[in-house]
Amino acid sequence: MPELPEVETIRRQLAPQLEGRRIVAVEILDARWTRPEHPAAVEAQLRGALVEEVTRAGKYLVWQLSGDRYLLLHLRMTGALLFDPEPEPPQARVRFGLDDGHHLTYVDPRRFGTGHLLHGAQARDAYLAERIGVEPFSREFTTEHLRRLAAGRQAPVKAFLLDQRRVAGLGNIYADEALFRAGIHPLRPVGRLSRAQLERLRDAIEDALAAGIEAKGASIDDFRHLDGARGAFQDRFLVHRRDGEPCPRCGRPIRKVVVGGRGTYVCEHCQPRPRTRPRTRAVRVRSAA
Ligand SMILES: [Zn+2]
Repeated sequence: MPELPEVETIRRQLAPQLEGRRIVAVEILDARWTRPEHPAAVEAQLRGALVEEVTRAGKYLVWQLSGDRYLLLHLRMTGALLFDPEPEPPQARVRFGLDDGHHLTYVDPRRFGTGHLLHGAQARDAYLAERIGVEPFSREFTTEHLRRLAAGRQAPVKAFLLDQRRVAGLGNIYADEALFRAGIHPLRPVGRLSRAQLERLRDAIEDALAAGIEAKGASIDDFRHLDGARGAFQDRFLVHRRDGEPCPRCGRPIRKVVVGGRGTYVCEHCQPRPRTRPRTRAVRVRSAA
């Protein structure tokens, strides 16, 4: 599933191809993409629109169009954008034709991806505010902000990081990588992290995401670049998907545990497990081995 670095990689590749171009043709082949809007209504809005800017918010790609309109794309599990694909890919859901003769095809085998057209910056901001929280790499993403979000919460820090309404853009890969970099066990209740731990976590989130962007994302599943190429970050994971391999810091084996239903990779030497308190029910952890 594409996370912030994968979506940012797509944005950086897409912007030079799309900005300043006019959409001259559009075919939405899957009504689920625009639901609850009717695809024909969205097609009519997109036809003739000028793409002014391609930005990103969390895991959303935001196409700013002429007439103060915004197309918000979310790739979800298996969505990908392909530029001039040859031959036409089998799982095409949306096709865009541009005024310079190039084509862009949105493919999505599992069909969870979405495209929503919004009118006006206010509608865009309201839509995003309901769905995503603070953006890493923004000025608002401070230790103090993280501390306010975490205050009083008993949820494991890993579950907290996966909640897009708190911090935008992290998924299973980058949450594991950030927690390892910060030396924090994924099961630690987020509200009990010290200020120093939160500071390390804040920095580790940005470091892990920056490493992912630098490697042009991770292709462990369907993630592809605009030209169909794969990212390289899967070869640089510190702990994610490395169970049984030596920890890059201490050499002890990395373990796989399950936190909130998600496979989670941890070095329990570098990331000490929280002590379970007597008389409170411990959060269930199953060894996935
Ligand atoms: Zn270690």
